[in-house]
Amino acid sequence: MLQKCLTSFLLLLSVFAFSQTKSTELINRPKLIVGVVVDQMRWDFLYRYYDRYAANGGFKRMLNQGFACENTFIPFAPTVTACGHATLYTGSVPAIHGITGNAWWDKQMRRTVYCTEDNSAKPVGTSTAGVGEMSPRNMLVTSICDELRLATNFRSKVVGISFKDRGAILPAGHTANAAYWFDAKTGKFITSDYYMKILPNWVTAFNDKKWPDILYKQNWNTLYPIATYVQSTGDEQPYESKPLGADKKGFPYNLSEFIGKNYGVIGSTPHGSTLTWEMVKAAMAGERLGSDSIADFLAISFSGPDYVGHSFGPNSIETEDTYLRLDKTLGDLLTHLDKEVGKEQYLLFLSSDHGVSQIPAFLNLNKLPGGSINDESWVTTMNSKMKDLYGVEEMIVSTYNYQIHLNHKTIDSAKLDIRKIKEYIIKYLELQQGIAQVYDIDRMMDVPMNEKVRNMFSNGYFPRRNGDIQIILEPHWIDGFSTGTTHGVWNPYDAHIPLLFYGWQIKPGKSNREIYMTDVAPTLAALLKIQMPSGSVGTVISEVVK
Ligand code: ZN
Ligand code: ZN
Repeated sequence: MLQKCLTSFLLLLSVFAFSQTKSTELINRPKLIVGVVVDQMRWDFLYRYYDRYAANGGFKRMLNQGFACENTFIPFAPTVTACGHATLYTGSVPAIHGITGNAWWDKQMRRTVYCTEDNSAKPVGTSTAGVGEMSPRNMLVTSICDELRLATNFRSKVVGISFKDRGAILPAGHTANAAYWFDAKTGKFITSDYYMKILPNWVTAFNDKKWPDILYKQNWNTLYPIATYVQSTGDEQPYESKPLGADKKGFPYNLSEFIGKNYGVIGSTPHGSTLTWEMVKAAMAGERLGSDSIADFLAISFSGPDYVGHSFGPNSIETEDTYLRLDKTLGDLLTHLDKEVGKEQYLLFLSSDHGVSQIPAFLNLNKLPGGSINDESWVTTMNSKMKDLYGVEEMIVSTYNYQIHLNHKTIDSAKLDIRKIKEYIIKYLELQQGIAQVYDIDRMMDVPMNEKVRNMFSNGYFPRRNGDIQIILEPHWIDGFSTGTTHGVWNPYDAHIPLLFYGWQIKPGKSNREIYMTDVAPTLAALLKIQMPSGSVGTVISEVVK
């Protein structure tokens, strides 16, 4: 009798427990998380062109209806694409995630390694050599996309899309369903067998439409009359490079002649971002992203502004026009998300992988300091001097990422005193124009230096993928260009990036507190209630989460 009573009691309890579970509120997550990286976008570009951004464009909508972190900084050097994308999505730094540059000199392999190269991966969707042998294997930590996949037992879908391979692969992480990037030889979006054996039908159908040709046909003239570009220097400056051909000096750019012939230059026009946007739309439909209650992640990177910026600089009509057009594309993206996923059903963030320097020649013309160095000529001189001194060829093997990499194998086998070699190099470089400081990386923590700068270099230090001597340039000095410009240094023009949150559970507002690129992933983890990525050292931006 007692047993019978107990059984019916237990049965009753379990029915009660079940009905309790059924009525319990489910975890609340957006249907889709959209990450937007604008390659090379400086924070000040939000305001430099603010007056001309459209009311229904992307920037004003995100600034006025979203949350703006106005003082977001990259906490490491070098400030380049691969490190920036990896850090935004991992909350980690190169010293931990291992992506120490777009490429680096690897001490074990004794050669330059590209950030996403993977000899074991085969291209899918192309036979072009060198563009498809890619994967995220060189990144040593999980990305926020991996954590979302883990949190939902891989039911969340993750897709990365970018013109650049590294802009798609590193954000999407190790467990992504797909990452797609552009093959400049064929004009098609491709992937590798790390993700899949063949391209999905929707990607093939997208490629068959030949979007690059459709966009080339539109040529490139300014969106508004050229005289209205008052935020930029006049067109056709001698310090601009000519990515669209030596004969093409300024607006309007005739692009029709590239149809069917040259897909490498589309990135250096605003059409690069339009092409990426068309691919994003196709991916949303093809993969049905954000169509059910399980959160998906779409990681987008617009690479075009980086190519345009390198060639023409931040004070050019080309850059201004690129941002005015990107604003419209971002507006289209928000409208499309509102319609397809639903207002307040998606969470979007926008940031950048790094900024950019003004072109030194432009600065000099306006009485501002700056210049360019030629580290290759320094290496030639030093290597020939050291051959006389030590009888050893090629003592310096690489100068990647503003670091001198020594030939350790030779130094060890010839039993040379590495301290003497380092001393010689440091003394030589200290006397060169444009160099602010040179130091032995092993002594990084002892060298007198501004603490913030030291912190940035130590966050970039991953021993096996780092050099022996660090070069710090004077502000607005860049490496080796007579035309155009670049990025990669610690200074605010390279390190101060935009950071905007918009959509699901985001209340309008802004913060002027100092926030770091490493804070993005832990903030997303807090909003989504999932584990932080495995190398995260960032802090949750509490103003965004409240
Ligand atoms: Zn970049
Ligand atoms: Zn760049």
